[in-house]
Amino acid sequence: NPSSIVLTGVTKHYAGNTALSKVSMRVEPGEFVVLLGPSGAGKSTIFRCITALTAPDHGKVEVLGERIDQLGKRDLRIARRGIGLIFQQLNLIGRISALKNVLAGRLGYVPAWRVLLHLFPEQDRQQALANLDRVGLLNHAYQRADSLSGGQQQRVAIARALSQQSRVILADEPVSSLDPESSETVLEILRGISHERGIGVLCSLHQVDLAKRFADRIIGVRAGSVVFDGTAADLDDAA
Ligand code: ADP
Ligand code: ADP
Repeated sequence: NPSSIVLTGVTKHYAGNTALSKVSMRVEPGEFVVLLGPSGAGKSTIFRCITALTAPDHGKVEVLGERIDQLGKRDLRIARRGIGLIFQQLNLIGRISALKNVLAGRLGYVPAWRVLLHLFPEQDRQQALANLDRVGLLNHAYQRADSLSGGQQQRVAIARALSQQSRVILADEPVSSLDPESSETVLEILRGISHERGIGVLCSLHQVDLAKRFADRIIGVRAGSVVFDGTAADLDDAA
């Protein structure tokens, strides 16, 4: 089984500024890893390297055993389908149902009109409903996405990543706009699906307390460098 994510000596400069300096880190299947650091530490740049939206100046980036930083356009499109993305800002299609948002993820890059016109197999619908059930939203499947709370919308985004059959999930500050209770629910679900389905999850946070409570492992970043890599207990010992 290849590692979910491996960065080796990744360096990235922007016009003389160093965003990342020799970053090495890994996430294994079934592991819920929190990327912890203040604003400007380099967390988003790490995510952009993992999805190959940014090319590192030095070093290598492997996703599921493949050098994603070296793939051509076509192979990159295929590789990206295996990566589920959950963003800080809620990014569902507001005027369609939760279910259709999940289905749109399942169909990947197929045009959304197929979902809008109900041109999807019943089997896909059942799978989407099962994933909404997993995140506790079966009762909200037919509600418009923009009628759901922020926490519920993030849970729909998780169901969408599951329906897409992601083997890796990247969650970029997924709870920064949520209240404390919803934040805990979302992190609990992310950790749970990681363990149940053997998905490597990398989730950025800036709250130390949440990282310590939920992470299997914490990778601390500061000013573009990894400054800590260990469990919550290791973090307490280091402090
Ligand atoms: P974080 O996500 O932890 O807030 P970022 O990865 O967004 O951190 O940023 C890391 C550093 O790189 C910051 O100093 C930021 O200003 C800089 N940076 C990020 N993206 C760009 C860019 N496109 N152009 C110039 N500087 C950038
Ligand atoms: P729309 O946004 O066009 O109303 P929905 O996403 O709500 O579509 O529904 C998707 C599919 O599920 C449609 O075929 C619809 O007829 C069916 N459906 C809608 N509501 C329910 C429900 N409460 N129980 C079972 N099936 C439903």
